[in-house]
Amino acid sequence: MLQEQSLANLAITIIGAGFGGLATGIELALRGANVNIFESYPDTKKQGDVIQIPANATRLMSKWGNMLQEITNLSACPDTMTISDQNGKILLNQQLHTSFDGYPNLYSHRGSVQQQMLEYATSLGVEIHFGTPVTEISESDDAATVIAGGKAWKSDGIIAADGVRSQSRCHILGLDDKAKKSGFAVYRSWFSLDLLGQDPLTAAITTSEKDLFKIWIAKDTHAILTTNKAANAATCFVTHKDLSDISEDWHVKGKVDDMLACVQGWDEQLRHIIQKITPDCLIDHKLLWRDPVPKWASDGGRICIVGDAAHPHLATSGTGAAQAIEDGACIATLLQKTCHKGDIPFAFRAYQRLRYERTSLTQRMGWETRHVWHQTDWEAVAANPSMLKFPQPEWLLGSDASEYAEKNFEAVKAHLEKGSAFTSTNVPSGHAHKDWTIDEMLSHEGKFVSTEFYQTRE
Ligand SMILES: Cc1cc2nc3c(=O)[nH]c(=O)nc-3n(C[C@H](O)[C@H](O)[C@H](O)COP(=O)(O)OP(=O)(O)OC[C@H]3O[C@@H](n4cnc5c(N)ncnc54)[C@H](O)[C@@H]3O)c2cc1C
Repeated sequence: MLQEQSLANLAITIIGAGFGGLATGIELALRGANVNIFESYPDTKKQGDVIQIPANATRLMSKWGNMLQEITNLSACPDTMTISDQNGKILLNQQLHTSFDGYPNLYSHRGSVQQQMLEYATSLGVEIHFGTPVTEISESDDAATVIAGGKAWKSDGIIAADGVRSQSRCHILGLDDKAKKSGFAVYRSWFSLDLLGQDPLTAAITTSEKDLFKIWIAKDTHAILTTNKAANAATCFVTHKDLSDISEDWHVKGKVDDMLACVQGWDEQLRHIIQKITPDCLIDHKLLWRDPVPKWASDGGRICIVGDAAHPHLATSGTGAAQAIEDGACIATLLQKTCHKGDIPFAFRAYQRLRYERTSLTQRMGWETRHVWHQTDWEAVAANPSMLKFPQPEWLLGSDASEYAEKNFEAVKAHLEKGSAFTSTNVPSGHAHKDWTIDEMLSHEGKFVSTEFYQTRE
């Protein structure tokens, strides 16, 4: 246990066993809370492909028994990212931080990590109910209730980690989901590295001693190859204009020929990689955009949202999973500080105040990175190739969400109770928060913007 079991009298219901739900369950159980998690899917099989777990998350995971070591053993940790144009001409070789303060930046298989988190959570006593969607949530002055599997489950509070299409978010906001079409989708695949071994154009990928991270960029389209030697796997993605009307789902099948058509005439190595993808490994995942969510806790104060439910990230941010894990550490720390049941509404409000400005920026980071790659100003790139860099800033990777909540507890309490000033320090130094909307971002779609417009580029 992290500390003495100060939350032993607290019962929390979590909705969703993705990264946010499991991380929150683990952080609460480590502090002695009684946790039930309800998950719609029947199990964790076939749950995604590669997911980034950067140092700000592995720093928190390092406190979870042997989990970090076990995940590291199965993950990639590339030290270079290569960005080329569509013909394969290298524009930038970016040296990547493989770690921060000794905590690794990992690229892992989502399903395997989810399974490890699940086993660890279960070993701590968290009860996980698969195939049991929550259909209703409600709260009273002293309790919160979910309806799942035809039964009512009462607890002290509900933490909803129900992902981008969160129904709990709609409940809290009193509004339906306001997702906007981005006009883009991503072909995503995860396949055996061996498939690339026989072709002279791709064989070097399999014999490389290092994990590879290669990106090809062009107007409105980019492709990514990553390899994971420890798992003997490769991933290949193509972000493309979404002309069909596929749904926002991680299981919509894609076609190799359609993926190839997006990169017609591009670097032959990329095309040969795509030709090797077996159809059962390929999905077409629609990208929808959502505004930062202004309210994370219910009026009664006993229901809150975490992870993508609270701050829906685009995959290009590379930090959606880490932000979900940070949420769990922050909430558990705050609940431990407030300790007794009546303070749940305060803990949930403090959680939003500590996390909102940071996640509003990381959400924006996903949009900005994709925008720089799709609206490439080739003259500017020729003069300064580093403008294409994948961001790995210290304010993001060097932060400990649990310590931050601990250190800022009194200040945020004074802020919420007495109105005293509170300045976030888990954002870039000197950053002045300004709310933004997807409509504002969309008005810059397809156009160059000044470098000052970007808030997350290094
Ligand atoms: C199937 C799947 C595959 C994914 N694959 C990738 C990937 O390969 N790479 C990547 O970068 N990101 C992937 N993601 C997204 C990524 O996991 C999240 O962006 C990030 O980790 C934040 O986690 P989260 O827990 O907030 O949301 P999620 O990981 O999306 O988890 C939300 C969970 O809530 C469950 N849920 C929703 N509604 C209910 C309900 N009413 N009752 C019970 N359970 C409910 C969902 O089934 C889901 O398991 C995937 C998400 C899913 C659901």
